[in-house]
Amino acid sequence: MEPIRMKNPIAELDGDEMTRIVWKQIKEELLLPFVELDTEYYDLGLENRERTGDQVTIEAAEAIKRLGVGVKCATITPNAQRMEEYGLSKLWKSPNATIRSMLDGTVFRKPIIAPGIAPLVSSWRKPITIARHAFGDIYKAAEYKAEEPGTAELVYKDREGNILSASKIADLDSGDVIMGQFNTEDSIRSFASSCFNYAISAGEDLWFSAKDTISKIYDHRFRDIFEELYETRYKADFERLGINYRYMLIDSAAAGIMRSEGGFIWACKNYDGDVMSDLISAAFGSIAMMSSVLVSPDGKYEFEAAHGTITDLYYRYKNGETVSVNPTAMIFAWTGALAKRGELDDTPELTAFAKAIEKACIDTIGDGTVTGDLAPLCGKKASDTLTFLKAVRKHVEI
Ligand code: NAP
Ligand code: MG
Repeated sequence: MEPIRMKNPIAELDGDEMTRIVWKQIKEELLLPFVELDTEYYDLGLENRERTGDQVTIEAAEAIKRLGVGVKCATITPNAQRMEEYGLSKLWKSPNATIRSMLDGTVFRKPIIAPGIAPLVSSWRKPITIARHAFGDIYKAAEYKAEEPGTAELVYKDREGNILSASKIADLDSGDVIMGQFNTEDSIRSFASSCFNYAISAGEDLWFSAKDTISKIYDHRFRDIFEELYETRYKADFERLGINYRYMLIDSAAAGIMRSEGGFIWACKNYDGDVMSDLISAAFGSIAMMSSVLVSPDGKYEFEAAHGTITDLYYRYKNGETVSVNPTAMIFAWTGALAKRGELDDTPELTAFAKAIEKACIDTIGDGTVTGDLAPLCGKKASDTLTFLKAVRKHVEI
C-alpha cells in the first residue's frame, strides 16, 4: 500500500516518562508504516521546558493556533519533588493550563468503548462526552471565616469606588463561612461556542446543565448565553445535522444520564464538570480508555489522552521490567488529530485511515488482547504494551 500523504502538518507535542516511550512506539508501529507523517515537532519533555524557559510550550500553543490541529503527549506538571528530581530553576506551569489559556479552549473528555469492557451503568451503550467550563466559580472565589458575629454583604463598586449595589447575604456567628465567586461573560461565551462547535463536529446532541431555578442571576446568565448563541449562530447547523441542544437542571440531567444510553455531550459548569468527569470516567472502566480534546471557540483542536505520564510504571520500566501500559487513549489522540486534519484538508483517505486504526484497537480488545488495566475487568491475561500494539497492527492489516 502507498503511504498516505498529508496536505498540511499537525503540531506534535512530545511529553514525559512512560507516555513519551509509548508515544514513539505508537508512531513506529501504527503510524509511520502507513502515513507520510507530517508534523511540526515540539519537545515538551520537562528537560526541554527547563532548557527553553518554557518557551517551547508557548511556541507549541502558537503552532496549534496556526495549524488548527495538534496532538499532545502527557507531561509532568512539576511540584517541589519534581523540581529536585529534574534540577529545575522554576516550578514551570502546567503545559495544559498554558495551552488552554492561550487557546481559550474547553476540554471534552470522551470514553472509548470496547466489547467486553462493560460500563458500570448497564444502559450506557454509547460514550458520554463531558465538557467542563474550566474557569471561575469556586476555583477563583474569595472566602472568609467569621471571627465574631456580624453581617455579610455583597457589595459592588465601579472603578471610581462608588457603590453600585449592596445586598445583605446573612447575619453570621463566629465560625460561620462565606464565599464570593464570579464568572465572566467572555469566558462563558467561549465555553458555549466551543461546546456548540464540538457538538456540530461530533454530530451529537448537546446538554447544558446548571441550577437557574435557584441561582436566578448567576446560573441563569449561563443559560441565557447558551440560548442566545444557539439561536443566533448554531441553530441552523444543528437542524441541518438533526441534532438537538437542550438546557436541563443539573439534578435532572444527573438523573437523565443514569437512564440514558449515552451518545451525547454534557456541558457542565466548573465544579459540576470536575466531579462528573471523574464519575463518568470511572463508570466507563479505565482512565486509559478516556480521550480528551481541547477545542477553542474559533475551532482549533488539540487531542490528548486524559491520563498522565504514568510515573509508577515508568520507574519499573527504567528498572528493566516489561510493563503493560494501555496505549488506547494515546492512539485515539493521534487518530483524532489525523482524522481532523483529513477533514479540514479534504483528504478522506487520511480520515479513513484514522478510523481504521481506531477500529483495529477496539477489535484487538474485543478479541481479548488487553493490557494490565483492562485484564481484571474482562477476566483476560494482561499483554505488555508492545504485544498489544503489534496485535493492533495485525488488525489494521487484515
Ligand atoms: P497518571 O499518570 O494518569 O497515572 C495514575 C495511575 O493510573 C497510574 O499509576 C496507573 O495506575 C493508571 N494509569 C494511567 N494511565 C494508564 C495507562 N495508559 N495504562 C495503564 N494504567 C494507567 O496520573 P498521576 O500518577 O497522578 O500523574 C503522573 C504525572 O502525570 C504527574 O507528574 C502529573 O503532573 C502528570 N499528569 C499529566 C497530565 C497531562 O499531561 N494531561 C494529566 C494528569 C497527570 P496503576 O499502574 O497503579 O494501576
Ligand atoms: Mg476531578
